[in-house]
Amino acid sequence: MQKNKNIFILGAGPTGLSIAWHLSKSENNINIIEKKDYVGGLSRTICDGKYLFDLGPHNIHTNKTDIINFLYKILNSDLMEINFKVKIYFNNQFVDYPLKGVRTLKVLSIKDRIRALFDFLIARCLMFIRNPKDDESFKSWITNRFGRTLYNIYFGPYAEKAWKIQSDKISAYVAQKRVPIISLTDYIRKLIKMNTTKFHPEDSSQVRCFYPKYGIQQVTNYFYNKIKDKNCIISLSSTIESIEHDDFSIKKIQYASNNKENIKDVDFLFSTIPINELVLLLRPLPSEDVMQAAKKLDFCSGRLLYLKCSQEEILQSPVIYFQNPNIKFNRIYDLRRFSKYCVPEGKNAVCVEFTCFINDEIWNASDEELFSYTIEELEKRGILKNEIVEGCFSERLSHTYPRFRIGFQKKLRTIFSYLEKFRNLVTLGRQGLFCYANIDEVLHMSFRAMEYFNTIEYKNIDYDSLFQEYIKHD
Ligand SMILES: Cc1cc2nc3c(=O)[nH]c(=O)nc-3n(C[C@H](O)[C@H](O)[C@H](O)COP(=O)(O)OP(=O)(O)OC[C@H]3O[C@@H](n4cnc5c(N)ncnc54)[C@H](O)[C@@H]3O)c2cc1C
Repeated sequence: MQKNKNIFILGAGPTGLSIAWHLSKSENNINIIEKKDYVGGLSRTICDGKYLFDLGPHNIHTNKTDIINFLYKILNSDLMEINFKVKIYFNNQFVDYPLKGVRTLKVLSIKDRIRALFDFLIARCLMFIRNPKDDESFKSWITNRFGRTLYNIYFGPYAEKAWKIQSDKISAYVAQKRVPIISLTDYIRKLIKMNTTKFHPEDSSQVRCFYPKYGIQQVTNYFYNKIKDKNCIISLSSTIESIEHDDFSIKKIQYASNNKENIKDVDFLFSTIPINELVLLLRPLPSEDVMQAAKKLDFCSGRLLYLKCSQEEILQSPVIYFQNPNIKFNRIYDLRRFSKYCVPEGKNAVCVEFTCFINDEIWNASDEELFSYTIEELEKRGILKNEIVEGCFSERLSHTYPRFRIGFQKKLRTIFSYLEKFRNLVTLGRQGLFCYANIDEVLHMSFRAMEYFNTIEYKNIDYDSLFQEYIKHD
């Protein structure tokens, strides 16, 4: 392991904090620079009296046994295995999610069932005999495999609401990653009871689900508590101004913290901030094509509305998805179903999640406006009564999900082929690799990054081999 180096970590989310924790066992000077006035990043839990609110309750769903063992090691009995059955509110009914095979048809009217089945079979036969010409967008990918009817009434409306762009502009990668699919031959094999189940991370029946007793921040707090008294300086509310390099070696970082300008020498830099921001902070600036690629990547933003409620039983499942395009929110969560320790006895809370753009009508709405819209939608569907809501507040999140527009892979490739020339810089984490990584995956990334840091003398990083499953989007 390197010694007596000035190591900088950008961002104090789970990735940054876990990197710092790994490094805190070494004899290096560790500095974390975080723009917010708190640690935890998106994996944060807000404490409000006896309520503990995650930024969107975090179900840790994984099949990575090393990560499960690691979480048990750090949280002991506070890591609870939970039963995580997700429902979707579809055609005014609550049905199990994800909708699969014949179950999908049961939710439809007789007329739609016939059309959906016909379209589906035609689509699958066509897929069997030829490769589709256009398979690049979410819309074409789904239509080619499930047919137009299921696309129009099920997949399309939710995708456009969750990503806030038209589905012919969303990359097919989203469908590949989010929609468990089995081939026609697999359907037939399944019918004759031959086991065909392929692993898919979004299929809740195939992964184990966990939740920390007192909210997701128990994970990040573990790292924070271990590093705060060690050789680690955490600068909160800080603004990074530039990152100076010479011949692809990072030399200095300039940032403002507590109204004080700092210019510090850097021996090694781990960055977990959005990859496009990192690229644009580098001095000298990269070439025009790398800058253009960085400027064209964008992230979804989000608004979370929390409703404190005066009764324990509220929703039928921990999470309900709303596919109806006329309902502006995507999902609602029942906090007690994640952990009864996060809400006071006799009470509960609901978290309502909206996707938005910074400064659009959802982002700019006041808490009162968001609440009156939400409660009207929930009340008229018999899901939640206004009279049991005792209070509400909201949070705005600038970077929730990478927005996977068509062609994002090419932009990322341009950026990675530039960043991999650096000898003492690793970008990683959900925003740092522009990937849809959950907390188990970002912890996995930080283990990997440590192997790299410990085993080599500084040389060019090979992102493809280090983080293959997170950056291979083709
Ligand atoms: C609504 C929602 C629900 C989720 N649900 C789940 C779930 O159920 N299960 C699950 O496993 N995961 C879930 N996640 C994902 C999980 O939160 C992330 O995987 C995890 O937090 C990523 O960690 P990270 O450290 O890579 O990034 P982040 O948590 O985003 O941390 C990055 C840090 O960098 C800081 N930063 C950004 N820009 C700068 C800058 N310029 N200068 C300095 N600091 C900067 C940020 O403030 C932040 O603290 C959810 C996320 C959201 C948004």
